[in-house]
Amino acid sequence: TLDVHPTGRHFLQIPGPSPVPDRILRAMSLPTIDHRGPEFGTLGRKVLAGIGQIFRTKHPVAIYPASGTGAWEAALTNTLSAGDHVLMFETGHFASLWKKMADRLGLSTEVLSYEGSDEHLPAAPGWRRGIQADMIEARLRQDTQHRIKAVCVVHNETSTGVTSDIAAVRKAIDAARHPALLVVDSISGLASAPFEHDAWGVDVTVSGSQKGLMLPPGISFNALSPRALEASKTAGLPKSFWAWDEIVDMNKDGYWPYTPNTNLLYGLSESLDMLLGEGLDNVFARHARWAEGVRSAVTAWGLPIQCADPAVYSPVLTGVITPPGVDADAVRRLIHQRFDMSLGTGLGKLKGRMFRIGHLGDSNDLTLLATIAGCEMGLKLSGVKLVGSGVQKAMDFFSSHAAPDTLKK
Ligand code: PLP
Repeated sequence: TLDVHPTGRHFLQIPGPSPVPDRILRAMSLPTIDHRGPEFGTLGRKVLAGIGQIFRTKHPVAIYPASGTGAWEAALTNTLSAGDHVLMFETGHFASLWKKMADRLGLSTEVLSYEGSDEHLPAAPGWRRGIQADMIEARLRQDTQHRIKAVCVVHNETSTGVTSDIAAVRKAIDAARHPALLVVDSISGLASAPFEHDAWGVDVTVSGSQKGLMLPPGISFNALSPRALEASKTAGLPKSFWAWDEIVDMNKDGYWPYTPNTNLLYGLSESLDMLLGEGLDNVFARHARWAEGVRSAVTAWGLPIQCADPAVYSPVLTGVITPPGVDADAVRRLIHQRFDMSLGTGLGKLKGRMFRIGHLGDSNDLTLLATIAGCEMGLKLSGVKLVGSGVQKAMDFFSSHAAPDTLKK
C-alpha cells in the first residue's frame, strides 16, 4: 500500500516489464481481427520482416504467444535430445534458472563460473562479472569427443546488470574447433544493447517482448540459424506447441499454426516503427548514455555497482549494492510506499543485498533524474549515509553530455 493517494504516473523502473509508450498502448487497442484473414497476413509479414532487422538476421524468427521462459524451452527442445550435454555459464539468477529448466527437460548440464574472489560479494563473485570466454574455450578443447552439444549463455544478465561479450563466446567455440551450437538468451538485451544474431554466429537467440521492445509481457522469440534448423530435424526432446517446423512454414505467408497474440503483434508493429525509425545504433547509444548517467549517480552516493567490470556494464539496468546490514528490499519497499516507484529486487543469491534500477523502455533524461531522486530520498530515509548527491551528479552528467548528434533529428 502507498502512503499517499497515487497521482501522476507510477514509476516502473524495474528492468522489465519496461514502461510502455502511449503510442504502443494505443496501437494495441485496435479491434482484434481474424487471424486467418487477409488483413492479418499483412500484419504477420510486416512484424516477421521487422523483427529480423532487430535481431540482425536474415533467417527465420519464431514468435510465440508466451513469456520468455517459453522461448527458453523452445530453444532447448528444438535443438537437443534427452541426455545431451550442454555447457552453461553462471552469470546470475537467470543463467541459473535456465540451467534448472535444462535439467528438468532431461539434459545433462555443466556450469562454469568465475573462479576469482570479490570483496563485496564473496559468496557470488561471478554474479558481478560477465562470461569468461577463455574458460569456455578451455572446456571445449578438452571435449575431444564432442559430447557437448550446445553452449547456452545469457547476454544481458537481468539479475546483475552485466552484458557479456557474445562475439567472444563465438570466437572461443571457433578457436576450439568445436561443433556445439551457440544458444543465447538476449531476453533483456535485445533492442537496448547491440546484438548481432548473424554476424556473431548465434544459432538460437531467445528474446521477449517486455524489455527493449517496450511491449507488455506476452510474446517471445527464437531467432534461428540454418544450423539450428538442421539440428531441429533430429532433436529428440518432445515438443509440439514449440516446434519450429510448422511455425516457420506458415510464417512464410504471415500466419501461425495456432491463434497468435494479435493485439501484441499490433504493438510489435508499432514498436518496430519506433525502433527502426530511430535507427538501432541510435537506440543503443541512447541506452548507453542513460546507463552512464545512472552509474554516475550511484558512484556519487559512494555505493558499489553490482557489475564489477566496467567493460561489461549493462546499458539496460544498474544494480546497486546496499551497505552491509541494510536490507535492500526494505529500501525498495519504502521507496514504493513513499514515492510510488518500483525498483527491481535482488534475485537468488543477491536477495536483500542489492536493488536494480531499470533504464529502458519509455524513459528520458528527466524521468531518469526523478528515478535517481526517488532512490536517493529512499536511501537517506533508510539511514544510508551517502557520500554525495547522485541527483546533482546525474544532472551534471545529462546537461554536460548532450545526446549524440545522431540522436537529434
Ligand atoms: N531470461 C532473462 C535474462 C530474463 O530477464 C527473464 C525475465 O526477466 C527471463 C529469462 C524469463 O522471462 P519471462 O519472465 O518473460 O518468462
